[in-house]
Amino acid sequence: MKVAENLIHIRQQIINACQKVNRAPDEVKLIAVTKYVSIERAQEAMDAGIINLGENRDDGLLKKWNVLGDKPFWHFIGTLQTRKVKNIIDKVEYIHSLDRISLAEEINKRAIKKMKCLVQVNVSQEESKHGLALEEVIDFIKSLHPYENISIEGLMTMAPFTDDEEQLRSCFRSLKELQEEIKNLNLDYAPCTELSMGMSNDFKIAIEEGATMIRIGTALVG
Ligand SMILES: *Cc1c(COP(=O)(O)O)cnc(C)c1O
Repeated sequence: MKVAENLIHIRQQIINACQKVNRAPDEVKLIAVTKYVSIERAQEAMDAGIINLGENRDDGLLKKWNVLGDKPFWHFIGTLQTRKVKNIIDKVEYIHSLDRISLAEEINKRAIKKMKCLVQVNVSQEESKHGLALEEVIDFIKSLHPYENISIEGLMTMAPFTDDEEQLRSCFRSLKELQEEIKNLNLDYAPCTELSMGMSNDFKIAIEEGATMIRIGTALVG
């Protein structure tokens, strides 16, 4: 399938999900996750009108960045090793996977401008997933106060791999509640207005529960 055809379908699903809960579709940023696909396919996505691309490894991002440059906004969505920060920091618009102080320290040190970060949360507490537990997040964000090159724009999660709609909904809802709580702390370095949640198989539910960024690979670019 052409990306443009998938995109028509996904945009319609975004509109439908927004309508169900009275949200405006332009509140939802669509990130095409290109980690499985070629540079040509990523270019096709851009030609179809997509402006946000997501990669989960530094080498994958660099390979595509070398050709596509900074025409798209790049989102780093994978586990980030501290020593890899310097490779990507000047190329990405957002880092979605901040999950520890040592990483914050390195980002702060290497940043050439205020770096927009999302704190990754492991809502479902699955062993296989990275991220802080829900109850650790507020203390973690408070401890980021000294890092003047970091702005906490929001929270990110990967939902459990399941078809159980209620389980997905409850995961997204918990993250939304926490995001509101942090936003209401009014920390100048943590506006915390973004919620990066929802992938190919659960983005409609994520939007109904308040997602502002959805990260779609399979259903969009393959
Ligand atoms: C791969 C990946 C996605 C996209 O997953 P799909 O199911 O292919 O849409 C989204 N977020 C993260 C963090 C990923 O690693």
